[in-house]
Amino acid sequence: MQDLEQGVARFRRNVFPAKTELFTRLATTHRPATLFISCSDARVVPELITQSEPGELFVIRTAGNLVPAYAPGSADGVAAGIEYAVAVLGISDIVVCGHSGCGAMTAVADGLDPASLPAVAGWLRHADASQARTTAEGGAGTVAALVRQNVLTQLANLATHPSVARALAGETVTLRGWIYDIGTGTVAELDATGRPSALAV
Ligand SMILES: [Zn+2]
Repeated sequence: MQDLEQGVARFRRNVFPAKTELFTRLATTHRPATLFISCSDARVVPELITQSEPGELFVIRTAGNLVPAYAPGSADGVAAGIEYAVAVLGISDIVVCGHSGCGAMTAVADGLDPASLPAVAGWLRHADASQARTTAEGGAGTVAALVRQNVLTQLANLATHPSVARALAGETVTLRGWIYDIGTGTVAELDATGRPSALAV
């Protein structure tokens, strides 16, 4: 907690004064262009790897960057965030970003004891299709292959949300799948088949 308080002090002393114009504008304006969906993993920092300023990314983070498919009637915080970003904020890009060494994907690949971690095990069921796709392409047991297939699966899940389906039909939004490699700092974009190509080499 001491570290966090010192961080707030440094922000107030060094960072905020240098960007007062930006923060004054942001006080009354919220117009992000991108919905960025990443894993909750502490090593994945969307604003850092995209060098975005405050106000530019609308971020949703979940374990395994999982996006449950649309389920009418359920009180779903992820679905609410997606709907608000697309239908109200009018974002033009949605990025689903997986990452190397993902603990959630490792748990999916290795199996998890539902008795000891029932909430985690239940949540990771949203990666069932990711696992099935990975097995079908012959990559079963490989976390990197699962991370890639999981990003594609979550992009497909995104398209089941009515706000996203509407925006896709109107060509007002673009979906992108990324993989961030923690050890090298590289980001790859996946094509429709899951083949990665490096961004900004
Ligand atoms: Zn992760």
